[in-house]
Amino acid sequence: MATVIDFSAAFPKAADIKAAGHEGVVAYVSPPRELWMKAKPLTKAVADAYRAAGLKIGAVWQYGGAGNPDVLRGAAGGRADALAADAQLKAVGLAGHPVFFAVDFDITLAQWNATAVQYFRSACDVLGRQRVGIYGHSRAVAWAQEDGVVADLGGGRCLGWVTSSWSQGDKAADYAVLYQGTHNVPGPSGVQVDINTVYASEWGHRPIPTPTVDLTKLPRVDQTLWLNKHYTPGRGGRRIKYIVRHHNAGILSIQGCWNVWQTREASAHYQVETTGRVGQLVRDEDTAWHAADQTRNQESIGIEHANSAGAAQDWPISDATITAGAHLAAELCIKHDLGRPEFGKNIRDHKETGATACPYHLAAGGKYHEKWMRAAQAHYDTLTKPAAVVAQEDDMFTDYDREALLDVRAMLQTLCAQDMGDPGVTGPYGGWPQTGGRTRTDILAAIAAKLGITGTTDTKEA
Ligand SMILES: [Zn+2]
Repeated sequence: MATVIDFSAAFPKAADIKAAGHEGVVAYVSPPRELWMKAKPLTKAVADAYRAAGLKIGAVWQYGGAGNPDVLRGAAGGRADALAADAQLKAVGLAGHPVFFAVDFDITLAQWNATAVQYFRSACDVLGRQRVGIYGHSRAVAWAQEDGVVADLGGGRCLGWVTSSWSQGDKAADYAVLYQGTHNVPGPSGVQVDINTVYASEWGHRPIPTPTVDLTKLPRVDQTLWLNKHYTPGRGGRRIKYIVRHHNAGILSIQGCWNVWQTREASAHYQVETTGRVGQLVRDEDTAWHAADQTRNQESIGIEHANSAGAAQDWPISDATITAGAHLAAELCIKHDLGRPEFGKNIRDHKETGATACPYHLAAGGKYHEKWMRAAQAHYDTLTKPAAVVAQEDDMFTDYDREALLDVRAMLQTLCAQDMGDPGVTGPYGGWPQTGGRTRTDILAAIAAKLGITGTTDTKEA
C-alpha cells in the first residue's frame, strides 16, 4: 500500500523520501510552536524540491499543543487559522489546495459539538468545504463527516486523516483517506517521521473538485411521514414561486408535527428538527395549510424549524436547524427553478400576512436571519456552480486583507523568533531595530489593529 510521511523536526531530502518508497508528504503550513520544529512551516524552496522530485504534497495545520488545541478556539480560531493557512499555501505555490486541521488530542463528543465543529464551519466558510480536511481520532473524523464540515470525496469517503492514537483500533479504512499507524520512527535523511497508509487516490495532495450532485434527487430528506389530512391535493393550477419560513414555537420532532396536525387544521411541507434532521410531511406538488391564505399556500412551500428551547429562553433555534433549514430551502430553489435564494423574492416569512410573529428570530431583521440567508445562498452556489468558479470565488481576501495579513505574519515571526531565543534577533530592551524600535507590546497592538480588533489604542502603526 502506498505511504506518505509527516514530520516536524526537519525536512527530509526529496531524494531520500523517494528512495524510501513514499509517494509524498503531509507538510505543516502552520508556524513553529517550539524551536525544534524546523519543518514548520513548509517553505517554497522545499516544496519546489519535493515537486521536482515527483513527490505529492498535502498540507496540515497545527499550531497549538495538547494544552491549547487550535480547534477549542471555536469559530474565531477556525477563521484565523484558515486565512493563515491559505496565505501560506499561496506562498509555497499550493494555492487552492486543501488543508488538514489537526485535532491532536482525545476530543470528546461534547467538546466537538460545543466548540470544535464551529472551528471547522468557520474554516469551511473561509476556504470552501472542499478545501477543509481533519486530522484526529477515528470518531472525530466521523463526526466531521456527519456534520458536513470536511471535504466530500464521494462514495462515503471524506478528507479525513485518522491517527491510531485514541482510535481504539478503528482504522477507518472505508471513510478516511490517510491512516497514521506508525509514530515517531527514524525516516529518510535520519529525520523522525510518522508513516501514513494511503487509502484513496485523492488524499488532499491537490485541489478537490466539488462533487457533482444529482440535482434530480434534491432535496435531501431524512424521513418522510406523509400527512393523511389537513392539506389539499394539487396546487389549484398555480406554480410554486417561493419558500415560507416558520418556527414551531415549540420543540417538535417530525413525528411531533404529524401528531399536532392530526387535530390542528394546519400543515407544512417540511419540518427541521433541533438536530438538523429534515422530515417531509406534505408532497411538494400538494398544498399545505401554513401561510394563512389559499393563494399563498398554493404558491409556496412551507418549512418549519424546531425551537431548541421554550418561551422562557425566548424560543432559540439551534445552529444545526438553521443550517439544515437553509440548505433545504436552497435545494428546493434548485428543484423548482426559483433562482438563488433572495429574501422577499423566493424566500419569505409567515409574518408578512400580519397575523403572526412567526418565524420570530428567523424573520427578516431577526437575529438568525442573516446567518440563515448566508447558509442558503452558499449552499445554492456550491450545488450550482462549476468547481472552478467556486474555487475562484472562495478567494475571500481583499487586497487590504492580504497586505494586512502579510504585515501581521512578519510581526508574529519577529515575536516568535524573539521568544525562541533566535540569536539573530537580539535587540536592546525597549524595542528591536528590525521593528523600528517597537516593543513586544507595540507589536501586539499593531497586530490587533491590523486584524481590526477593537479596544486597542495603537498609535505607532500607520
Ligand atoms: Zn408560521
